[in-house]
Amino acid sequence: DAFLAAIDTANPAINAYVLQTPEHARAQAKDSDKRIAAGQARSLEGLPIGNKDLFCTKGIRTTACSKILDDFKPPYESTVGQNLWDAGAIMLGKLNNDEFAMGSSNETSAFGNVVSPWRRKGADGKISDDKLVPGGSSGGSSAAVAADLCLAATATDTGGSIRQPAALTGTVGMKPTYGRCSRWGIVAFASSLDQAGPISKTVRDSAIMLRAMASHDPKDTTSVDAPVPDYEAAVGKGVKGLRIGIPKEYRVDGMSAEIQKLWDEGIAWLKAAGATIHEISLPHTKYALPAYYIVAPAECSSNLARYDGMRYGLRVSGDNLTDTYEKTRAAGFGKEVRRRILIGTYVLSAGYYDAYYLKAQKVRTLIKRDFDLAWDKVDVVLTPTTPSPAFAFGEKSGDPLAMYLEDIFTVTVNMAGLPGMSVPAGLSSQGTPLGLQLIGKPFDEETLFRTAQVIE
Ligand code: GLN
Repeated sequence: DAFLAAIDTANPAINAYVLQTPEHARAQAKDSDKRIAAGQARSLEGLPIGNKDLFCTKGIRTTACSKILDDFKPPYESTVGQNLWDAGAIMLGKLNNDEFAMGSSNETSAFGNVVSPWRRKGADGKISDDKLVPGGSSGGSSAAVAADLCLAATATDTGGSIRQPAALTGTVGMKPTYGRCSRWGIVAFASSLDQAGPISKTVRDSAIMLRAMASHDPKDTTSVDAPVPDYEAAVGKGVKGLRIGIPKEYRVDGMSAEIQKLWDEGIAWLKAAGATIHEISLPHTKYALPAYYIVAPAECSSNLARYDGMRYGLRVSGDNLTDTYEKTRAAGFGKEVRRRILIGTYVLSAGYYDAYYLKAQKVRTLIKRDFDLAWDKVDVVLTPTTPSPAFAFGEKSGDPLAMYLEDIFTVTVNMAGLPGMSVPAGLSSQGTPLGLQLIGKPFDEETLFRTAQVIE
């Protein structure tokens, strides 16, 4: 009830929830009460969480924040969602995101912008009225957690969409190894990059959430049949003897002094806690962002072909079948989604496939190989999560390239399929949150939780 009331009060200004499900939440809570009374509480019994609108919810509207999925009510639940409800969690509602998870600022949602609960200081030192972005695409998830409108939230990360919004809102974002969580029932953006994970207040909460979310799922052939460790047990183990890698290629041109300082502080904290610091080289880093913006649109153009006005949501009838497809897609997709589909179909088209898509896939292998070699020398890699703190609405939305640069530190992790985590590490000169990113070996989320807890 407290959370439902808080949402009623704060959501009109923040716009984190695109759908509130109070009756559903109360029914789940009643069941939790019974189980607690019977001494049969499960791991997340009664804990209220928010669910990104990319996760299908049985009989409950799921739109990926796109007009094209207008009022779509899936006949099934995502596996990750089902795992959470089976562990006793309660869904408060569906959370806003960039349309089809394409974006870094939550400015492309059909339901409008999410407003960060944070404000920044202006040059005069006074709190400014500028409305700041909560990051994206999981901006509803990060803002809801930061504003205490849920205890934790589900999120997805294709190129940074868990870690970047976490960094900009002072929350913890964990993108697990590709294959750790099932993608079944999550609206697909770029299938070889998409992964689900939690955004939470603390590292311990993140560990508890991930344990419940992760599972092998025969319905997703890319989900991995490996035991899910007790991540919470790793929290508090410290970093004594851990080897921390600092990749020199992440010291990009024009990195701001405050981001550099934050990174240096992170290094110092881990050193003081008993870790050893090693400079490493990940030589193909500079190709990651351009290659990502070929692979992700290519896969998106293929995945979004299914929205034809026949099977889901919106239909704008035309004179014939092709006309109906065209009218539906023109009315249903926003500008950024259309841009991605155009780029994607271009790089996949005959004559360009080898030059762009195949090249990008080869670059991807090289990026992964850089990390494979690094793991001989280090156990975890430390970098900043974002190149800058939270920005104001409109600051980057007119310039797609400026927006894509937000992902410069996060996309390598998805391209290599690795686990990555953002931990709140300090405040910018404007008084807004900054995050540090940890990158781990495949399926070694435990080391990330250990290290993150020392930083938070
Ligand atoms: N900002 C990136 C993009 O727009 C990543 C989005 C994501 O991880 N879903 O593609």
